[in-house]
Amino acid sequence: MYRISVDRSLCDGYGVCEAIAPDVFELGDDGLAVVRTALTEDEAVSEACASCPMGAITVARAEAA
Ligand code: SF4
Repeated sequence: MYRISVDRSLCDGYGVCEAIAPDVFELGDDGLAVVRTALTEDEAVSEACASCPMGAITVARAEAA
């Protein structure tokens, strides 16, 4: 399980995260990423985190509730 957060003050709206992990990220009406689900099993979040050009995504391991 992963806990996801996006620092929207860093996000520049490239949409890389949404392209890689659309179940977790989407671009909001303001063009910046929003997290659709803060907790996920989606392995793609690690790649999305590494691929974000702004380093805006934080992925932490979370224990299953
Ligand atoms: S990849 Fe990073 S900069 Fe691009 S939309 Fe996602 S969080 Fe924002």
